[in-house]
Amino acid sequence: MAPMSATVDLPLLELASDSGETFPVDNPATGETIAEVPRMGAAETRRAIARAEEALPKWRAMLAKDRARILRRWADLMMENEEGLARLLTTEQGKPLAESHTEIAYAASFYEWFGEEGKRVYGDTIPTYAADRRIVVTKDPVGVTVGITPWNFPAAMPTRKSAPALAAGCTMVLKPAEQTPLSALAIAQLGLEAGLPEGVFQIVTGAAEDAPLIGGEMTSNHTVRKLGFTGSTEIGKLLMAQCAKQVKKVSLELGGNAPFIVFDDADLEEAVTGALICKFRNSGQTCISANRILVQDGIYDAFVSRLVDEVSKLKVGNGLEPETKVGPLIEQSAVDKVQRHVGDAIERGGELLLGGEGIGGLFWQPTIVTNVSADAAMSCEETFGPVAGIARFKTEEQAVHAANNTPYGLATYYYTRDMARIWRLSEALEFGIHGINTGLISSEVVPFGGVKESGIGREGSKYGIEEWLEIKYLCMGGV
Ligand code: NAP
Repeated sequence: MAPMSATVDLPLLELASDSGETFPVDNPATGETIAEVPRMGAAETRRAIARAEEALPKWRAMLAKDRARILRRWADLMMENEEGLARLLTTEQGKPLAESHTEIAYAASFYEWFGEEGKRVYGDTIPTYAADRRIVVTKDPVGVTVGITPWNFPAAMPTRKSAPALAAGCTMVLKPAEQTPLSALAIAQLGLEAGLPEGVFQIVTGAAEDAPLIGGEMTSNHTVRKLGFTGSTEIGKLLMAQCAKQVKKVSLELGGNAPFIVFDDADLEEAVTGALICKFRNSGQTCISANRILVQDGIYDAFVSRLVDEVSKLKVGNGLEPETKVGPLIEQSAVDKVQRHVGDAIERGGELLLGGEGIGGLFWQPTIVTNVSADAAMSCEETFGPVAGIARFKTEEQAVHAANNTPYGLATYYYTRDMARIWRLSEALEFGIHGINTGLISSEVVPFGGVKESGIGREGSKYGIEEWLEIKYLCMGGV
């Protein structure tokens, strides 16, 4: 995979749309078009699903260890092509190159890990309820599945879905986001090179206007048994409703609104480092980004002052430049949203300490606003930008109440050295993922997912493969 700068060669997958039409993929750092990708719709999706159905019997019958060999080779090929894939990712998505390298390694790790996990899909025997009967539980692959993924992790979201699905013996048709289809296409190409049979993993691409057609076919086609979706809560609800008509299985990784809570007894430097990572990584465009930074009275001033020191050092620029720490936002509507959130927080009494404005193109100056009110837009919705909104609290009870005061429940972070408090918080905070004295919580070995309106199901870990399996109960009589 060659490094890309101005234009990107499309991977060799046989991709075509019936109309012959394409849509442009732009580099958010420069605005230039780096590739033209086929615009597909319902018909192309239907054909891909039919091919996935054809490929299913052989793939599900293959020994798990043979599937694992292919998945392992796929992971290895991704790592052999790490530099090219990372540059492609930065070019289409904007994040700093070092973050793209981390994402490629994270993305590849799912193929390695789930290939192995596929060998351990154990069933059960259950002590019988009748003397002449024996009870066995087996686990079967769900069948033909579909995935829909967002633009903020263009490599890791497709692999986090396809790895457990394929390891379990399912086939998958996946639609990446309009803004970032290239990483998914490149990864699928490497899958074929690793020995993946035709039809086991296919990509359908489309512009934003095509998404409802592709998603409509995926959710109404009777061959499809399961949807794995990562994206906004709004679209997740829509797709869940569409899947409900055929009672298709769903797993949904949706939006978050993560509280990041710093108590008086926290290690100040650790807390500042954690806030920097989980607020400014990927320009704040992650579902687990700290969205509400809540700081206790006694450490408030010291924390704010240290955070201002550190954030003012962050270099904004094109992600391909080595010193860049904060890349561009994904599109103009993202810049507009950040502007709206900052303006709204200030109108409601917030104090702007740093940044606060766009600096040309899709770049936004890293920003700190203090005294953010609980009813400010940035307290209630994901900002998805490099903006740290900080609010003060006095008691643990107030912090818990503020943190849980959201329909979302994906990630939360808290910094304290009091073990008893850590236990209390782990029980009281309604979130699927808890970062305790750390801002880094992603790995292929952990169950990633949310509660409340942040989703259903888990990805990664031994729990992740269960999402792609059906339990079958065998009752053997006449014994
Ligand atoms: P989005 O607008 O919901 O889009 C996500 C995907 O859904 C894209 O591929 C999009 O296609 C597609 N889509 C949109 N409308 C559709 C429709 N009617 N039918 C079928 N597909 C449709 O979300 P986003 O703005 O790209 O992503 C950011 C969101 O994802 C944030 O809320 C973030 O928190 C969440 N997220 C969650 C996790 C997690 O693990 N919980 C991880 C990452 C991101 P087009 O791009 O072509 O429109």
